Amino acid sequence: MKTPFKKISLILLISSLLISCTTTESHNDTNAATEFPENIISYEFPLGTTNLLGQTPIDVNTFTTTKINTTDPVIHYGSILLSSVENTSENLKINLSAAESTENYITIKGHKYELQQFHFHRHSEHKINGEYSTMEIHFVHKSSTGAYAVLGILVKNGEVSPSLQVLFNASPSHEGINSVPNHLNINTLLPQDISSYYTYSGSLTTPNVDLTPNQGPLTWVLFKNTISLSPGQLEDYSLKYEEENFRVIQPLNNRTVYENKKNNY
Ligand SMILES: [Zn+2]
Repeated sequence: MKTPFKKISLILLISSLLISCTTTESHNDTNAATEFPENIISYEFPLGTTNLLGQTPIDVNTFTTTKINTTDPVIHYGSILLSSVENTSENLKINLSAAESTENYITIKGHKYELQQFHFHRHSEHKINGEYSTMEIHFVHKSSTGAYAVLGILVKNGEVSPSLQVLFNASPSHEGINSVPNHLNINTLLPQDISSYYTYSGSLTTPNVDLTPNQGPLTWVLFKNTISLSPGQLEDYSLKYEEENFRVIQPLNNRTVYENKKNNY
């Protein structure tokens, strides 16, 4: 009598495992769109004040994202000359020349957005599952029609970042602009895996740092993988930029946050 009972138990166990695997697949994988979601691409929407309910930053709940699997955005970054490193008095901002903007850009479904500048926030503006990161870098891109797309990179405490050190060293101590003869390959500021990210339609995060609406809509891409900086580097930055600069978390309202990942289907 024991043997049949064990067999039945085993069959039931295998059946339930199969059912749970199938359920997981249909939830996460088979529904994953293979194109970047058209409804959050900002190319047809130069900045206005039309997305009062679609503000940035948000707290990304990674358990409720909609899975996608696309090769966008395609990032074309290279080396830039640090000819305009700005201490805005609020944060560190690196401006690109017009020629450099032409050469450093991203495309989303073939639409080109040129990199204008990138800048820092301490601590991060976005939260992931309720948690802030130490810093966040925003790469701000603009299309020929005046639409914006921003890549966000979260920075966590850890190893020294030689690239961040180059920028922090180049930063003026007080409000103003430095031109230094160094080149920096801005690919070195990206996380190793740039295929995994969250994306949604949001807004600028300045000038209003409260719940007052800022201009939008614009396409946000927030990488899942982070880069690091050391405690000493954070101290260096904090000595030049004493006040934290981040906007309060905004309500998601009815927006969808998409999650791109290799092998999402
Ligand atoms: Zn920003």
